[in-house]
Amino acid sequence: MSQLLEYKCPGCGASVEFNTKEQNMKCPYCDTEFDVDALDGLDEELKTKDDRMEWSKNDEVIDDTEAQGINIFVCNSCGGEIVGEDVTGATFCPFCDNPVVMKSRFAGELKPDYVIPFKLDRDAAKAAYMKHLSGKKLLPKVFRTENHIDEIKGIYVPFWLFSATADADITYRGTRTRFHSDSKYNYTVTSHYAIRRAGKLGFRNVPVDGSVRMDNDLMESLEPYNFSDAVDFKTAYLSGFFADKYDVSSQESSLRANERIKASTESEFRRTVHGYSTLVTQSSGVSLEDAQAKYALYPVWLLNTTWKDKKYVFAMNGQTGKFVGNLPIDRGAWARWFALFAGIFSAAAVLIMHFFL
Ligand SMILES: [Zn+2]
Ligand SMILES: [Zn+2]
Repeated sequence: MSQLLEYKCPGCGASVEFNTKEQNMKCPYCDTEFDVDALDGLDEELKTKDDRMEWSKNDEVIDDTEAQGINIFVCNSCGGEIVGEDVTGATFCPFCDNPVVMKSRFAGELKPDYVIPFKLDRDAAKAAYMKHLSGKKLLPKVFRTENHIDEIKGIYVPFWLFSATADADITYRGTRTRFHSDSKYNYTVTSHYAIRRAGKLGFRNVPVDGSVRMDNDLMESLEPYNFSDAVDFKTAYLSGFFADKYDVSSQESSLRANERIKASTESEFRRTVHGYSTLVTQSSGVSLEDAQAKYALYPVWLLNTTWKDKKYVFAMNGQTGKFVGNLPIDRGAWARWFALFAGIFSAAAVLIMHFFL
């Protein structure tokens, strides 16, 4: 049994990759196209065995070489050594550039439930980056003209998807103020109210990234992903991309999911309370029912660039094209703009003064 999966073209024997435009496997050399399902046989060994005893649940079947912390794989095509990191699940052979998938990283307990296949390719990521740069007045000129992207890669990022019913009981204190007056006095009447809202709110597939090296905030800013495009996981989708397996457990990730679910529940409930001049939350209890975590791989294009020894990371949602990342600001340009605005402002002030005089 080989540790690496490679997908060979039945027509010419070259490596085939998942094609984002066709949403199918396609040979880049002879254009032979075939269905992802045709490769199902290769994933047979990934299936979780049915007889799993409770107490052995966390016993991952770990390959000997991996247990020793050695992540060396041998390329099926050229025999070259591919050195992976602990989390590397799909990469390219550094010698022959063939796409490879490390089967053991997605086997048994590590098998993802779902994958959202890449919808957008490398060119789309580049175009989105250029669009991101355009119209940014404060961007240092050299950043634009040098136009260097150190690295651009499509990576399947591990995500935990949390689904639960939030059962909430929240109380508020509210006031309403009325004013009236008679011939002698002005009256202010403040009425105090105790308000309570209780009920349930359902959450489906709240994503939290399960990767240590991915910045949580950057990944969250790529949302939303459209879960209706998610399909059952198959390794073939990974061919031609990078992929990481999770290294943050669902337990650890659930803390962030809980925070998000609590905050969303509180803000939804808050929106149902109207008509008070002041409102403060007095108590809030949110408990989760039917909490469930699923494991999925979501598509992300990552772009790295360096400017003045500083690293800039941009990311694009590989499904929707949403592009995020901070650009450097040219201090000089900032000062010129500020001066210009100040000029316009004082000109306007002069004009208004004339108007009133
Ligand atoms: Zn071919
Ligand atoms: Zn190779």
